[in-house]
Amino acid sequence: MTSDKEIADLIFPDVTLTIDDLEKRYPKRDLPNGAEVTRFAPSPTGFLHTGSLFTSMVCRKVATQTGGVFFVRLEDTDTKREVENSRTIIFDQLKAFNIVPDEGFLGSEEKGDYGPYVQSKRADIYKIVIKHLLEIGRAYPCFCSQEELDEIRKQQEAAKILPGYYGQFAKYRFISNDERKELIESGKPYVIRFKSLGNHIHKIKVHDLIHKDFDIAQNDMDIVIFKSDGLPTYHFAHVVDDHFMRTTTVIRGEEWIASLPIHLDLFEALGWEPPKYAHIPLILKLDDEGHKRKLSKRLDAEAAVSYFIEEGYPCEAVIMYLMTLANTNFEEWIFQHHFKDMDQFVFSFEKMSSDGSLFDIDKLSFFSREILANYTKTQITDAILEYANAYNPALKNLVERDRNYFEEIMNIERERENPRKDYFKYSNIYESVGFFYDEIYSDLVSNSSNLPFNREKFTNEEIKTVLSALLNNINLPEDESVWFGNIKNIAVNIGFAENNRSFKENPEKYKGVVADVAEILRITLTCRKNSPNLYYVMRVLGLERSKQRIEHMISLL
Ligand code: GLU
Repeated sequence: MTSDKEIADLIFPDVTLTIDDLEKRYPKRDLPNGAEVTRFAPSPTGFLHTGSLFTSMVCRKVATQTGGVFFVRLEDTDTKREVENSRTIIFDQLKAFNIVPDEGFLGSEEKGDYGPYVQSKRADIYKIVIKHLLEIGRAYPCFCSQEELDEIRKQQEAAKILPGYYGQFAKYRFISNDERKELIESGKPYVIRFKSLGNHIHKIKVHDLIHKDFDIAQNDMDIVIFKSDGLPTYHFAHVVDDHFMRTTTVIRGEEWIASLPIHLDLFEALGWEPPKYAHIPLILKLDDEGHKRKLSKRLDAEAAVSYFIEEGYPCEAVIMYLMTLANTNFEEWIFQHHFKDMDQFVFSFEKMSSDGSLFDIDKLSFFSREILANYTKTQITDAILEYANAYNPALKNLVERDRNYFEEIMNIERERENPRKDYFKYSNIYESVGFFYDEIYSDLVSNSSNLPFNREKFTNEEIKTVLSALLNNINLPEDESVWFGNIKNIAVNIGFAENNRSFKENPEKYKGVVADVAEILRITLTCRKNSPNLYYVMRVLGLERSKQRIEHMISLL
């Protein structure tokens, strides 16, 4: 009678190393008490999902704050689903958000003693473990054809019972080793399945750091662990990897909760202690009817992190915003810390809601404004230039042709106690600052729809009167209040009220108020109703260019 060991040797004649050898090759990590080893394990199937960024942010944070290790492992065993270049893209995008692993797969190279960190390079390790499972009778070759699998499914559907390869339906579980040997030697193709001892009518108790204790049906599926292409499946490979890479907490998306019983079953069969688990809730979005749904790549641009990079949201803002979704107490904390020193915040799984969080782009923009307002003029110019280099040649040109001038624009009411919060994403900046550049200004001014003067209140002649008075009398003193005093005088001299109250009490006496004069000047200089502080706009433009713009506007009207 053929033994389990003989079957194992027949399948893996070249595998001579044992699990003990692996235990020695990958010893327990020498880390301080409480240090957590976390990992992000993307599959190279295309792009970095915002949910994955969220998960890896939590992984990085937990490892950092416990003095542990965060590594990246590439799960590429599903060769059919691999998308070209995605392995480097995923890594580069993580880096763009400052999520840098301590070890593991780093895009084009690997670093660390627990590798290889790319699953397709670990076939030898998986084979050792599978050979062990075959030897102890917890795995077997399965020769089921697609037709046989379809037949099993039909029977299960007819009987209205759980579909799958388990229990009595796991037909190749019941053949003898002699039959196995014969089939293997005859060259019949096969996969290797795990032999589960569970029963799905039993519940097991599990603990999750976010979802706490809950009951879930025990696994009884004899899942495929080794495919005919010589590579393992995800379920099996990640159990082996997390064991030998000495992961202490598996932090991954909530969609994996359903597979947890399989993973625990595998850990038990191998006699290994499973890691702690934290299944991160989904990021949701409200649909048009107000229902919550998963952030979807197909429907939502913000499902892919490339969106934030291409739109030019500062990466810190995205991370800061995601941290508000991760921990309910973070928002108050970061307000108290004036949107700075986020590294000091202590994350905890207890403060993570187990319900999915709603993605709110306005809130992201709010954080973004706060962060950009805190940058110095040099920092914001550097950041804009970096963005423009990659995504916006016209903006790059504006910055580079006179960096000092661009910094002056950026410096309007910046580097002071209450800085202005004008900007929230770099892709808007070209449009926001365009009017400071004469050639862009000429284009703007030549299109009358860019001149939102209040035509209900003022005729062209009246606007021209205001502009002529400004042209003859405007100045640009060092002091903003002196400048504004002068604008007031100009307004009063041509018959405008100094304030709203005088105007309201005596409307027929005045043509308008000082604010109207300021608005006419603003539209003339910027082609906009809203702009940064007008006095500083004039200081950047200079008195001469401001006057030229006023003169030009008179000629246009
Ligand atoms: N490769 C799996 C994925 O991309 C990772 C799941 C895990 O973190 O265990 O979803």
